[in-house]
Amino acid sequence: MSEASELPKREEEEDLTPEPEDQSDDSSEEEASGDTDMDFLRNLFSSTLGLGSPEKILDELTLEGVAQYIKSGKCKNIICMVGAGISTSAGIPDFRSPGTGLYANLQKYNLPYPEAIFQIDYFKRHPEPFFALAKELYPGQFKPTVCHYFMKLLKDKGLLRRCYSQNIDTLERVAGLQGEDLIEAHGTFYTSHCVSFCCRKEYNLDWMKEKIFSDDIPRCDKCSSLVKPDIVFFGENLPIRFFTSMKMDFPRCDLLIIMGTSLQVQPFAGLVGRVSKSCPRLLINMEKAGQADPLFGMLGFGGGMDFDSDKAYRDVAHISTCDDGCMALADLLGWKAELEEMVKTEHARIDSQDKKEKASESKGAAAKASSASVAPETKKEE
Ligand SMILES: [Zn+2]
Repeated sequence: MSEASELPKREEEEDLTPEPEDQSDDSSEEEASGDTDMDFLRNLFSSTLGLGSPEKILDELTLEGVAQYIKSGKCKNIICMVGAGISTSAGIPDFRSPGTGLYANLQKYNLPYPEAIFQIDYFKRHPEPFFALAKELYPGQFKPTVCHYFMKLLKDKGLLRRCYSQNIDTLERVAGLQGEDLIEAHGTFYTSHCVSFCCRKEYNLDWMKEKIFSDDIPRCDKCSSLVKPDIVFFGENLPIRFFTSMKMDFPRCDLLIIMGTSLQVQPFAGLVGRVSKSCPRLLINMEKAGQADPLFGMLGFGGGMDFDSDKAYRDVAHISTCDDGCMALADLLGWKAELEEMVKTEHARIDSQDKKEKASESKGAAAKASSASVAPETKKEE
């Protein structure tokens, strides 16, 4: 922590890393794992001694039950936890999770092993493959999905406590969530920073996009060090806000909505166990996720999702795409027309903006071309 106060620009990167094999032994990590131990003991005692038996809040473990609860007015602090599945309908490939076919595509970059492309040490020595891939995967258009706008609707209605996202595609921001509404657990492309600890100059998305598309390796104009998008690479720490907000948000959560994530990447996946024992949890996903091993459940190791057992009392699985699930929930809440209107208006706005940008780009290109054609040796077709 003292390090963080000496180097304020670095503080976003203190604390845990997403890498299980990380061997760093800084004190904040010990503190975090101490917390987990305490949670574990608390869960063990409460389940074996029958302490604080949880309240059953939902009348039924269905989307209807969740909608009724939201409409009751007792549900004021909703936390959304979202993963790559909410952005696939926007045409954004899952950028870093293994098993998505992305790694199979990396042979042309001559990596020592596929994960190296997202490893911070490798990146600092060989940034080219990462930026080549970033160019290849760069979304043509940043158009949020129904699911993103559903979260914006929750915010507008004063119900969204926070959105914890694993995504780096900035679509939550494009949909209208602000920095304070968001924990970008794996960082974001929205901003970039000079990698030099002495400099840390910030750059915006337009600057980075321009570098990526001109095949320039982005260098800091102050100190010439590499500039890296603020996404969390393997071997890097999660943003400190992830840990500070998590401790504030989850105990106060009235409803956890988990969308488009298979809950397999820690420490993100562990967040589902941080809400109170009574807090209902709704999963909207193409398959069930986050269930505890039944044996662990029998031994009193709580925390996992329980949709189907005799003891299930608060977890709801709605198996569908995130867009369909959000639209169905909006319908049950009487918000369907509002959500559809928001999607329509916002998409039209983005389309017209995009057209304007394209027009000015092609104007720029035309100007370039015409100035180039002034050079006498390129004049042929006149
Ligand atoms: Zn710099």
